[in-house]
Amino acid sequence: MTGRHGPGRAGRVVAAVVLAVTVAAGRGGDAPTRAGDGCAPGRGPLTVDDLPAGSSVLECAAVGRLVTHEGAGVTVPEPGMKVTVDTLAVDGSRHGFTLEVAADGTVSYDLAADAGSEEHTHAAGPPAAARAACADSAYAVADHKEYGTYDWWIGDGPLPGGLSPADARRAFEAAIGTITGTRNDCGYGDAVGARAAYHSVTHHEADVDGGAHCTARDGVSVWDAGNLSGGVVATTCSWSRPVPGGPDWLKEADVRFNTGDYTFTNNPGDHCANAYDIRSVATHEAGHVFGLGHVGAGHEGQTMFTNSFACSTSARTLGRGDVLGLRRLY
Ligand SMILES: [Zn+2]
Repeated sequence: MTGRHGPGRAGRVVAAVVLAVTVAAGRGGDAPTRAGDGCAPGRGPLTVDDLPAGSSVLECAAVGRLVTHEGAGVTVPEPGMKVTVDTLAVDGSRHGFTLEVAADGTVSYDLAADAGSEEHTHAAGPPAAARAACADSAYAVADHKEYGTYDWWIGDGPLPGGLSPADARRAFEAAIGTITGTRNDCGYGDAVGARAAYHSVTHHEADVDGGAHCTARDGVSVWDAGNLSGGVVATTCSWSRPVPGGPDWLKEADVRFNTGDYTFTNNPGDHCANAYDIRSVATHEAGHVFGLGHVGAGHEGQTMFTNSFACSTSARTLGRGDVLGLRRLY
């Protein structure tokens, strides 16, 4: 798909982002935004058209309501908070978006297919799909980062691969450490100043429902497992607060593995069949936690590629684009 000319592809990406912003702004200008005038009607999930950009979550009484877009969904947070949902799919489809509520209650969205991310491509040369992880510079960043320490817990329910909490802690710590330590085989040094600290097993759960939608946040960043809608291997929900000059400041990020539909393993070996490598998936999700977005077709070598490969451990270490994305943020 990607042509030989990097700038051409980058130009198309920029055009798509501008179009999305224009459409969102147009909806905000045209759509009803007053309570009783069509916003946030009735019960049940809302669409982005029910709560258009520019409307007020206060006037629409929309805080706590679920808003869906192309199968993804987030619960409207309180004013001054932004929520992003990122799903890791089996088929490479991109599902995710960002809903931000300004301090005055005004809604805005980033509905870009890569979940609020800004995509950068600098690569040229051989067909993109054939590029090795260390030759591919593509990355995408969401507009948030961890400025301090990411404090996280493990849920007290089932864990992927049937791991014990101790083994899950080791797997997740290794994955998170790959992001905070910028571990890669491309010769790049550590670029991430942020830290992470595991605390304990908790009765809190990841704030994700069975449809892989983000529910209201509980203030505790939890990694756990459960049943998500089919096609979704794992989901990350992240919440952040605006920082003047940005990126926004991460306040919570929850990760859930879909053990209802998929099998996970800590040791994919010769006999692996259709099981997902826990550390590979966890490293990808940790990338979202620390602010990376998805890269799509042609960038299969990057940890932040939009889908996951069964029995592959390649996402355990970062590709060049993953590293460049982290350097952009940190
Ligand atoms: Zn993802």
